[in-house]
Amino acid sequence: EPVSIGVDVGGTKIACGVLRGDQLIERHLQPTPETGWEAVLDVIAAQVQGLQERHPHARLVGVGVPGPLNADRTRVKFAPNIYGFTDVPLVDGLRERLGQRIILENDAKAAALAEAHLGAARGTESSIYVTVSTGIGAGLVLNGRIWRGRHGIAGELGHVTVMPGGPVSGAGLDGALEAVASGTAIARDASYALNRDVSTAEAFELAEQGHPAARRIVEQALKHIGVALADLQKVIDPEVFVIGGGVASVGDFFFRGIQKAANEYSQGFAPVSIRRAQLGTDAGVIGAALAARHG
Ligand code: BGC
Repeated sequence: EPVSIGVDVGGTKIACGVLRGDQLIERHLQPTPETGWEAVLDVIAAQVQGLQERHPHARLVGVGVPGPLNADRTRVKFAPNIYGFTDVPLVDGLRERLGQRIILENDAKAAALAEAHLGAARGTESSIYVTVSTGIGAGLVLNGRIWRGRHGIAGELGHVTVMPGGPVSGAGLDGALEAVASGTAIARDASYALNRDVSTAEAFELAEQGHPAARRIVEQALKHIGVALADLQKVIDPEVFVIGGGVASVGDFFFRGIQKAANEYSQGFAPVSIRRAQLGTDAGVIGAALAARHG
């Protein structure tokens, strides 16, 4: 049975694990350092070393990162939601630390691969995985393969402009989808409206309980996401969308709001079929481990 290691670098957490066959047999979480990319690479290397000590057969390592990569997948152009993560030579940096070559992948593309092979999109010919977390990203699987595009950035859904003149994203553009509808955006708007620190999860709880400001903020965010899916249906026309990421784990309320907007804005074209990610928050780790096997 193939054994490989997956690392999923997030805006707030770094998750890693060992995938044996299609089972995740070990999983760890660490906070993402906020002191620059070298510190992030140190944590990744330490995690991988720890796993390889316990699982000496796990030589293949895949690392998923929340940002666009260069075309040959050796560097991260930038990770909009991690401090100091710009033009990072991740493959070389980890080769220096670990003495081996790792496979680098975008986090959403990795999760898309996992859901297409082992999760909610299994058996489909085309699917689009969307992660709603600190940022928003997507991975397009067409004819069973990840679609990267000419420059490798295909799927950068969080940076599509949906509200010119709106809030500015970590990438520095006004009105990007992730600046109006990510977990970060919801927490920011709810904190402003309620005059105290409100987490994304609490904003959803309050919205469900009918708190007027929280409800409006959450519904607006879900509407933007649903509209984006309806737009993608018109452009790409995939068989299914799979939605995951930390924010999606809040559940029914989230999916109902997105489906409602998607239905409204796809009217007359084609239905927008939305599934929940099956691998949950493990999709990124599993996908990175699979990407390592696919090379
Ligand atoms: C990044 C994407 C990433 C997404 C989710 C966005 O800000 O640009 O590459 O997939 O966040 O982490």
